[in-house]
Amino acid sequence: MTQTLLVLGSANADLVVEVGRRPAGGETVLGGDTVVLPGGKGANTAVAAARVGASVALVGAVGGDGYGSLLRESLESSGVDTALVKTSSRPTGIAYITVTPDGENSIVVSPGANADVSLSDVDALSFDGAAVLTCSLEVPLETVVHAIGAASRAGVRTVLNLSPVAELPAETLRQLTVLIVNEHEAAQLASDWRSLLELGPSSAIVTLGSRGAAVVQESGIVEVPAIEVDEVVDTTGAGDAFAGALSARLAEGDDLVQAARYAAKVAALSVTKVGAQPSYPTAAEVG
Ligand code: ADP
Repeated sequence: MTQTLLVLGSANADLVVEVGRRPAGGETVLGGDTVVLPGGKGANTAVAAARVGASVALVGAVGGDGYGSLLRESLESSGVDTALVKTSSRPTGIAYITVTPDGENSIVVSPGANADVSLSDVDALSFDGAAVLTCSLEVPLETVVHAIGAASRAGVRTVLNLSPVAELPAETLRQLTVLIVNEHEAAQLASDWRSLLELGPSSAIVTLGSRGAAVVQESGIVEVPAIEVDEVVDTTGAGDAFAGALSARLAEGDDLVQAARYAAKVAALSVTKVGAQPSYPTAAEVG
């Protein structure tokens, strides 16, 4: 393994359809044309990191179906190494997304192959040359716990985007270099941001949407303002863009505050375009 960043997480095909209103039970409504977009928190994070120049491999699974091929192509065209994306006997994970005219999304996720990302996939990993392991959920929690333990024992820094909040062993929390949560998740976990460190991670980042992010360390809290954008088009995948760009910069040796400032730029650019992966900027666009 020569990649400096490993991302463990989901890859989904997002099937998006606009509807005037959602059907009630037993009812059928007609929607617009289906748009198929590459998604999944793990794949989004890996693509965001690769676009800004990280050498990154995704650890995950897709099905041996057309959506699986689409996801592999999307990852590879962004420069993500897919050698550790296995082909499962289950179908590719799919997010069924309906969007109403008010812009609200309703989502059903069918995990499919993502549920097959297992402890043995982690045991097969070599952490040689890796600087950072970044995990997100939507794959089995026990796999994430196992991976964070293995990386930590190998001296690799660990980042976890804990969205949505799930209960983790105390030891796993202590093995984390960076815990990333949004402000709602932070409120579920602790009474104030500083107390996030009492859960065990060496540091935490609270993302604050259009207000930026807060970097929480033993030395204090540093607020990283958001970059103001002309027009917010679509915030889908902004959190994944932030996590991917942050991990990319950490793997390159930035300190956490520098990395968070860079991630805020990447995430801000991502909200100015439609979709998750298609909206992620390259290093040249970040400037
Ligand atoms: P999540 O999508 O996981 O809930 P946030 O909404 O906090 O995460 O967004 C993640 C990051 O994306 C923020 O920390 C910020 O840097 C950036 N961001 C989100 N919304 C905006 C916005 N309207 N303008 C500029 N940056 C934004």
